[in-house]
Amino acid sequence: MNPKTTIERGTLLTVLDRLEKAWGKEKVPHERSFGSPLDGLIATLLSQNTNDKNSEKAFFEMKRRWPTWTQVMDVPVEALIDSIRVAGLAPTKAARIREILLRIRLDFGSYDLDSLKNWDPVEARSYLENLPGIGPKTAACVLAFELGKPAFPVDTHVARIVRRLGWFTEKHSPAEIQEELETAVPKERQGGGHLNFILHGRNTCHSRKPACHRCVLSDLCPSATEKGLSRS
Ligand code: SF4
Repeated sequence: MNPKTTIERGTLLTVLDRLEKAWGKEKVPHERSFGSPLDGLIATLLSQNTNDKNSEKAFFEMKRRWPTWTQVMDVPVEALIDSIRVAGLAPTKAARIREILLRIRLDFGSYDLDSLKNWDPVEARSYLENLPGIGPKTAACVLAFELGKPAFPVDTHVARIVRRLGWFTEKHSPAEIQEELETAVPKERQGGGHLNFILHGRNTCHSRKPACHRCVLSDLCPSATEKGLSRS
């Protein structure tokens, strides 16, 4: 475990405020949900190591072929792999889907995770993180988008921005960053804050050429001078 960082509270709130003003996400919008916690969990599993477009294509193709989870459990695994191939790592993801469905059926008596909505957030997170193939980021996505609980998923965009802001270094893993942000960011601002960071990463703080000249955080960012504030 790397040493913890200190995020100055005033700066953190200023960053959250400015990103919210720039990108407009105060909360997680309703349409981010896949309709049920279990659907959201499987869709997020499919999104690992690929982009949203391909993972959603895979998820909806699987649901088109077999609308119920009972059917997904009954089909030959080769057919399941074929349905989700566009998401990549299809054999592994298909096996994980089956393992998760089996575990949920054993734990809850049906293919349904709705009861997690009534669980304590810490217990719900622990349950999700103990499912096969589910790490801290995937669990946080399900908590924030499907269960309405506080969580700040840290993906590549979030990690890049907070490292450039000097809050973390490359030595901090995304899981460590997530744990600290979930402690530091006010609970009611976590879901919306996460979405604003994602939008900022996609539209301004790009991986290769960050557009520092039009970044609302440039006066707070130690990387701004290094990355260049000019338009060239
Ligand atoms: S100033 Fe540049 S490097 Fe810093 S957060 Fe903004 S776009 Fe990213």
